[in-house]
Amino acid sequence: MTLTVLPDQANSADADVAHRPMTVLVVDDQDAARVALAAVLDRAGHRVLEAHNASWAMELFIRHRPDVVLLDVEMPGYNGYWLARQLRAVENGGWTPILFLSVHAGDQDLWQGIEAGGDDYLVKPVRTAVLLAKLRAMQRLMEMRQRLVSMSEELREANAQLMDLSETDALTGLVNRRGFNRRLHQALLQARRDARPLTLFLCDIDHFKAYNDEVGHVEGDACLRQVAQVLQAACQRPLDCAARYGGEEFALILPDTPKSGAMTLARTLAHLLQQRALPHPASSVSPWLTLSGGITTCVPDGTSTAESLVLRADEALYVAKTRGRNRFFSFEMQVDTLESRGAGPRAGVPRPGADAPPQP
Ligand code: GH3
Ligand code: MG
Ligand code: MG
Ligand code: MG
Repeated sequence: MTLTVLPDQANSADADVAHRPMTVLVVDDQDAARVALAAVLDRAGHRVLEAHNASWAMELFIRHRPDVVLLDVEMPGYNGYWLARQLRAVENGGWTPILFLSVHAGDQDLWQGIEAGGDDYLVKPVRTAVLLAKLRAMQRLMEMRQRLVSMSEELREANAQLMDLSETDALTGLVNRRGFNRRLHQALLQARRDARPLTLFLCDIDHFKAYNDEVGHVEGDACLRQVAQVLQAACQRPLDCAARYGGEEFALILPDTPKSGAMTLARTLAHLLQQRALPHPASSVSPWLTLSGGITTCVPDGTSTAESLVLRADEALYVAKTRGRNRFFSFEMQVDTLESRGAGPRAGVPRPGADAPPQP
């Protein structure tokens, strides 16, 4: 059998041209059969690629990524089953319909073709109308698959947006407590894996209740937004994260940041706050809004947890508060960053303090 399509029936199917022309790879070792098939497809408006053996078919497939493959089973060298398996292997998550064309009509042959990766199995000679109808059906499946792929892509994007929203603080736009927890956990694992230092800041606005009482909650909210901007501006590296921990408390997660870097950042933070010079009409510490902060820096080991880091930063924050506020404290550095005493009226320009180290 050399002809795979009965030519006299080709015209009757011409009216049934596929809605969208496809690129069809026709693989058949017999020239006459392949050329006849190509002619039918060409008349039906499709673009045809022809291969007379498996390796040339493979080459054309990789180069042109056809929409459909029509595949002869019996070929010298590698046969159609082998080629189907190879095509499936290089698809890389995609799907190209493969239709086998064979003279063998047995159930076992059909089964073998489908098992090898074929999507349909037609027995030669194939009537043109049947072939074009099968191609149309495959095209419909491809379009459905494409719609599913783009829907799942849209769903993935929607999920990512939802995730962003669920981890964003509505008032300040910073990462919220939920996002903070996740990021700190991730940062800890990464720092442990890389044996790199991780720094955590917990910051708290000084006398913020009095601020609210004095100027009202609306102004208080605006003030929280300003502080958030300052914290965000202090985070200069892509993996740094400023979060609203809750109320008037904020956190900074600073991967790959040793003690010296933490100290520099505390200075930057105080400098930025000083530049803003937000008036605080009811603070006993300064006429300007000030922050107290607890800093902890460590290269995490097996015993370090997110909770233990937060606890340590919180204890350091408590020390900063009890030492008079408007400063950052770190047990690891055994210093606080109080502005040089008597050097200025504004928020603290941090300086390694000379205070005696408190006991944790
Ligand atoms: P300290 O220096 O010891 O931190 O004193 P504080 O007054 O800042 O601390 P306290 O915990 O007594 O009060 C925190 C205040 O923060 C209470 C509340 O009025 C205010 N606050 C918390 N969340 C918000 C918020 O979302 N908006 C406003 N406007 N105020 C808030
Ligand atoms: Mg053959
Ligand atoms: Mg507080
Ligand atoms: Mg406070």
